[in-house]
Amino acid sequence: MALERTLSILKPDATQRNITGQINAVLENAGFKIVAQKRLQLSAAQAGAFYAVHKERPFYGELVAFMTSGPVVVQVLERDNAVAAYRDVMGATNPANAAEGTIRKMFAESIERNSVHGSDSLENAANEIAFFFSGLEIVA
Ligand code: ADP
Ligand code: MG
Repeated sequence: MALERTLSILKPDATQRNITGQINAVLENAGFKIVAQKRLQLSAAQAGAFYAVHKERPFYGELVAFMTSGPVVVQVLERDNAVAAYRDVMGATNPANAAEGTIRKMFAESIERNSVHGSDSLENAANEIAFFFSGLEIVA
């Protein structure tokens, strides 16, 4: 398996409950290395641009409002097969459908307040990483 990088966001429901360390402990125990990390307050323009792919979805406005409701932690994760492996450890979008042991099963509050974002393809991972980080900010 090839070493890959993927973008992770710890969402406002996680920062508000002060559980970012608990989530990152799950990730580190699953073999991910956090090679870049910063805490940000997103503007509506930034959150809207990041989630532009969902612009036509009925939940887009609420999603942007949620993602700007408090700080987020954006981070780059590195591991073999990181994109798919991180999707697995995140669990299903709706925590009601998430498997035992996944982050969303353990921590998510609802389909919207589901604690974590993860890139869904290697191509999107590269674009999402570049959205938040310069090369100088990523240190393996
Ligand atoms: P994922 O984060 O699992 O890749 P999506 O890309 O489909 O899921 O959706 C992006 C985010 O939008 C979700 O993580 C969640 O916060 C929110 N979301 C998705 N579907 C809904 C919905 N039906 N109602 C409210 N929020 C939603
Ligand atoms: Mg997605």
